[in-house]
Formats: sequence, structure tokens, C-alpha cells
Amino acid sequence: MTSRLAETSAPGRVNLIGEHTDYSGGLVLPVALDCGVAVRWQPEPAAIRLRSAEFPETVELAADGTPRSELAGWVRYPAAVAQLLHELGRPAAGLDGTISSTVPIGTGLSSSAALTVAVALALCRAAEFELPRIELAHVAQEAEHRAVGVPVGLMDPAASLLARRDHALLLDCGTEEHRLVPLPPRLAIVVLDSGVRHALEHSGYAARRAELERALPCLGGARPSAVTVEAAEAAALAAGVDEVARRRLRHVVSENERVRACVRALEAPAGPDRKALGALFRAGHESLRDDFEVSIPELDLLVELAGAAGAVAARMTGGGFGGSVVALVDRHAAEKFAADVTAAYVARTGRAGTGRVCATADAAA
Ligand code: ADP
Ligand code: MG
Repeated sequence: MTSRLAETSAPGRVNLIGEHTDYSGGLVLPVALDCGVAVRWQPEPAAIRLRSAEFPETVELAADGTPRSELAGWVRYPAAVAQLLHELGRPAAGLDGTISSTVPIGTGLSSSAALTVAVALALCRAAEFELPRIELAHVAQEAEHRAVGVPVGLMDPAASLLARRDHALLLDCGTEEHRLVPLPPRLAIVVLDSGVRHALEHSGYAARRAELERALPCLGGARPSAVTVEAAEAAALAAGVDEVARRRLRHVVSENERVRACVRALEAPAGPDRKALGALFRAGHESLRDDFEVSIPELDLLVELAGAAGAVAARMTGGGFGGSVVALVDRHAAEKFAADVTAAYVARTGRAGTGRVCATADAAA
């Protein structure tokens, strides 16, 4: 076998709006970022061996994905990817690789999906095995369920596999229809990291999903993205759905409406509707805080500070329980905005928050 070093990589993402909507077949609007996970690898006849610069454990699997020892920690993600690809018919081809990442872990930029997508692409290339992008996204999604029991939706891997530079990806996770929405050039995306790390494996993520699922049957098979807030509320009351599950449903139904309205505001013929964007992000944040209960005081504070510092729009982003706030900010003022909000946040909380003006990127190549 000739030795060749190859590289596959996958970007992280930030979601502009549409939070906790993906796993009930709803709408999301993520953007791929210019940070990512890269796998540098070479073919290896009989084993899949992967190291990460971030963690001490090494993955050791047979070339068909069968684990060779007990799996713990991060290695569960690549192991689950390899097993799922094997089940889909990937030929047993091994590789030896090293993972490096510029996606901060646990900040809401989806390091886990960047990891599973980058590993899936490396394994496919090593075996000269091809899958359509949306199927690869399903593999990455399912890998996260299998690896750590977090029932994530399709958004994170889909963003990493389908988004384009200078665009957001409007994805209907129910029909899997998607299209690119151009981002207004005058607006920059700023990610404000609260410094509070989440590990979705140990968060309330799975519980929130289960609570929502208590309410879904009251819609009689309709997806939450296909009903109005009023109709959903009436159906939930008529079906005797408990108060907590009703609030979870109200978030998801209203959030789908906000995604549509946000796309309209971004694509307004006369230029982006800044007032609408501000109101939609604010309402989205409040809904995640009050109805879905996945915000934390640090994220609430960052949204408040972002508003005071002149953000066009700001809301918590990602699964919650820590992580980041995403803000849309006038590009010419973005660096100063990020520095000002960070300074105010650190002064108020003593936490190591950071603000970053983010560039968008193309999906994994
Ligand atoms: P995030 O919001 O960053 O996706 P998650 O809790 O979903 O947070 O995923 C974080 C987990 O993904 C880490 O604990 C680790 O197991 C895995 N992971 C992320 N990046 C890497 C990396 N570069 N190397 C190894 N494992 C990683
Ligand atoms: Mg994740």
C-alpha cells in the first residue's frame, strides 16, 4: 500500500434561530463557521486508530468499526460513526489519524457534530465509499445518540455538510428541504461565549426532548412547524397535556414561526429589517428562557449587555445549559462591540467570557 496523508475537515456552526426545533421536524437557520475539526490520516490495513489533540484516549477499532476495548469518553463518537457506516455497507478499510480542532468544546458551536462529520468523511474516503450528504448528516446525528445518548436533531451535522459561506442554511428537518439564505453583508455575526461549558451528555437536553414528546400527540400527527401557537395551545388544553409539556410545545411552535419571520426579515427587499430581527431574537431568547427553560443567568445577562452595546439582535444559541449568545451587529462596529460586551460581562460575573466576530465558511469539502 502506498502511504499518503489525507485530510478531511468539517466546520462548526452557530444557529441564528430555530432552537430545539430540529428533533420535532421543524425549521432551523444555522451558519457554518470558519472553525472546524480536521482529521489528518493515512490508510492502515486492519485497524481504525484515531488520536485527538484534546484528549488522552486513543480510539482503537477493527477496520469494520468493531471496538477492540471498552469505550469511554470522546472515543465513543468516532466508534459510533464507524459502526453506523459499517451497517450502511462501508467496506472494512482502516486508517490511522490525528484529530485537531479549532471549535471550542461545549460552547454551543457544535464541536461534537464537527467531530462526527469529519470522522465520517475520513472513513468514507478511506474506503472509497460514498453517501449523499443528507444521509451522512443522519449518520452523524445517529452517532451522537448511540455514543452518548444525546437525542440531537439533524441541524448540527446538516449545517456542517450543507451550508455555504456568506449564507445561512434554512433547513426543514421534517421534509429535509433546504435552501441557502444570503446574509446581509453589513451585518456581522458575533458569538459571545459565557464561559459556562455544557456537556450535553450530562445536561437536561434529553429531558427537554422527552417533555416535548409528552405534548406532541395532541397535534394528531401534525408537525409543530405546521400549526399556529393558538391551535397548538387549544389542542394541548383539550387533550389535558400537563403545564410543563404545554410550555415546551409553545416554545417549539412559536420558534418555527420565528424562523420563517427571520428569513423574511433577512430577505426584505428594502434591506434587512433590523427592527424585526431584534424583536424576533429577543422573543426567541425569552421563549427559551421561560417556556423551554434551557437558558442560564449568564446567557440572559449577555443578551442584556449585547442589547445595551447596540446589537441589532441577540439571543442564546445552541442547546443551552451554558454555551454562547449569538448577536447580529453592524460590521463596522463589531470588533468594538465584542470587546465592550466581554469587558462588561467579565466585570459583572468574574467569568472568563469571550466575544468573537465570526466569519462564515463553506460546508465540509
Ligand atoms: P458542543 O456544543 O461543543 O457540541 P457537546 O457536549 O455536544 O458540546 O460535545 C462535546 C464533546 O464532543 C466533547 O466532550 C468530546 O467528547 C467531543 N469532542 C468535541 N471536539 C472534540 C475533539 N477535538 N476531539 C475529541 N473529542 C471531541
Ligand atoms: Mg454538540
